[in-house]
Amino acid sequence: MDYIAAAMRGDIQTVAELSFECIMCGTCAAKCPAELSQHQIALLARRIWGCHGLPSSRDLEKRIREIQEGKYETVLGELMDLDTARLRKIYAQREQEPQDDTDWTPKDPDFPQRLLRESPSSNK
Ligand code: SF4
Repeated sequence: MDYIAAAMRGDIQTVAELSFECIMCGTCAAKCPAELSQHQIALLARRIWGCHGLPSSRDLEKRIREIQEGKYETVLGELMDLDTARLRKIYAQREQEPQDDTDWTPKDPDFPQRLLRESPSSNK
């Protein structure tokens, strides 16, 4: 209810921050006597805050531009042609970017293309 109170004050940032751990289960909405859909309010606030309140991410903008320019169409097509077992094997080898490291770069900048090239006959 704290984030609903913030929403009623128009404090989008507080709604976004206080609702961060809401998992969108909707239980509160199902039981709300005022028929509020709290989780939808939280989601809207997070989207507004993420779009207009937070600084933009240069990495995200770069990645979106690359996607729009078709940089990943070939590799995505190759991945979509894999059988599930091979796809799971490649997925398990991915690196995950640490949340608190702003200078992180992947150890294998050629992932997953390198794996796709290694044994193309086993991709099908
Ligand atoms: S939808 Fe409501 S009940 Fe479910 S986690 Fe979010 S705030 Fe809690």
